[in-house]
Amino acid sequence: MQVFNFNAGPAALPRSVILKAQAEFADYRGCGYSIIEESHRAAAFDEIIQAAEANLRKLLNIPENYDVLFLQGGASLQFAMVPMNLQVPGKTIGYADTGVWAHKAIKELDIQQLPKQVVYDGAAINYSEIQGIREWRIDPDWAYFGICSNNTIYGTEFPEFPETGNVPLVADMSSDILSRRLDITKFGLIFAGAQKNIGPAGMTLVILRHDLAERCGKNVPTMLRYTTHIEGKSLFNTPPTFAIYINRLVTDWMLENGGLEAMEAQNIAKAKALYDFIDNSGFYRATAAPATRSRMNVCFRLPTEDQEKAFIAFAKTNGLVGLKGHRKVGGCRASIYNAVPMEGVQRLVEIMKEFQKNA
Ligand SMILES: *Cc1c(COP(=O)(O)O)cnc(C)c1O
Repeated sequence: MQVFNFNAGPAALPRSVILKAQAEFADYRGCGYSIIEESHRAAAFDEIIQAAEANLRKLLNIPENYDVLFLQGGASLQFAMVPMNLQVPGKTIGYADTGVWAHKAIKELDIQQLPKQVVYDGAAINYSEIQGIREWRIDPDWAYFGICSNNTIYGTEFPEFPETGNVPLVADMSSDILSRRLDITKFGLIFAGAQKNIGPAGMTLVILRHDLAERCGKNVPTMLRYTTHIEGKSLFNTPPTFAIYINRLVTDWMLENGGLEAMEAQNIAKAKALYDFIDNSGFYRATAAPATRSRMNVCFRLPTEDQEKAFIAFAKTNGLVGLKGHRKVGGCRASIYNAVPMEGVQRLVEIMKEFQKNA
């Protein structure tokens, strides 16, 4: 039976990438040993990290004045590292609280005792929508403005980004990076844990406008400064070599399959198929309001929690795994990242229909 993986993260990777990694795992391209045993300073790895960066630059059309870094510590470390590097003494940091991950980033501002202004708080509507993006008041004097572009747990996503003028826009794109076309020049800094859409856990991608890195104050530890990793070309210390290698294969796969335009078109079609079915089912209920629904994480409920449990078990016996909602919100969640094919979504819809019929 073919298995389709709807895990939220770590999540599905293209099958062809997994098979390619397997095929060259024990003997990397004829060198006689595995790439995970290779020095991060060796020519073979140099080729990999350069190709990974070049692929990302091509896919996202990243301008020259932006750096691309492969770091560790996950998106969670970026919650702390961004303000350490981008704060400006005396200036306030703006943030939009659209869910758990944005909330955690905001908490780090308090820990660092930085002045903040939260322009939007979705708690009252249980983060079921991102409301009034165009009406948010962006103060031109802020050090930067932070958002989480896709809220993995609540299944909401920014359909458009706020206009921030000269205020650098900082985005946690852990769960939607490379899922759609993007104008990088609208952002000051983008960060993403790899394990949702672009590789295995262990690597964090940071894309930042070069001049912003220069803001960093004197008291920030060496490893936590973007300038350290820019100067070291992500090789200041040992980087997560295996994760970078897989990211290179994933981005090769994206380029071979039409780039972001094709990924976006496919993601739109997959999300539409699933939401349309849910909305018309008279049984399943999507938790996110239509205007700002995520194309990556489709959150839904059944009439009762017992039915949710039974559905998740039924789906699993039919080869559909990873459909349990986040423990904070319960319910069901189908994460349909780039690597989940349309056939997976169609199969899911079939199984949902069958479950409903027998409920
Ligand atoms: C998963 C996730 C995180 C946490 O990532 P880690 O790499 O585990 O620190 C942060 N933000 C978003 C949007 C996520 O989906």
